[in-house]
Amino acid sequence: MPVLWNRHRYSGGLLILDTTNTVVLRGDPARSFDRFADAAEIARFAHTASSHRSAELGGRSLSFERSDAAVDRVLELRESADRLFRATVGGAELHHPDLPALLRAIASCLEGAGEPGDALPQLRFETALAVSALALLSGPQWRRVRICRNCDWLFVDRSRNASRLWCDMSVCGNRQKARRHYERRKATVGDDANA
Ligand SMILES: [Zn+2]
Repeated sequence: MPVLWNRHRYSGGLLILDTTNTVVLRGDPARSFDRFADAAEIARFAHTASSHRSAELGGRSLSFERSDAAVDRVLELRESADRLFRATVGGAELHHPDLPALLRAIASCLEGAGEPGDALPQLRFETALAVSALALLSGPQWRRVRICRNCDWLFVDRSRNASRLWCDMSVCGNRQKARRHYERRKATVGDDANA
């Protein structure tokens, strides 16, 4: 069944993090799965990102020309970005053993990009992804990358006091609250039963 690329699936705050989040529940190998396992989803993800990431993309729409090599480049960039930005959460330095691999993946996605396409209404997905990763690396925002406490996704915390816990309050925040409520109730009922 095709993936429904709804707003929640773009909770990362940046194209590169939305892309790392196309692997679901990375911290749980038994339940984890890859929404790009069907490569046709890459083009559908890119198409929907054009509206969800409109500000980052300067209003341009993304296109993905599918080939085995292009799929490999996207997955390599996605995985190396996930490794680096996950490993550096809460850290003071970007110098990390995973940084060279990420830079190579960025370069590989930029090669063959052709002429700068600022004036074009369309942008290659690979180019946009590489630029998004570069922007995150080179600005102060990487210090604001967090891991969602509920689903393990990466997101940029733009809250004023940098205290956001969930990628999406309306989904993961509520799930955690419901779980805590359930556990509290269970504990109370348990106490009553033992009384
Ligand atoms: Zn989440």
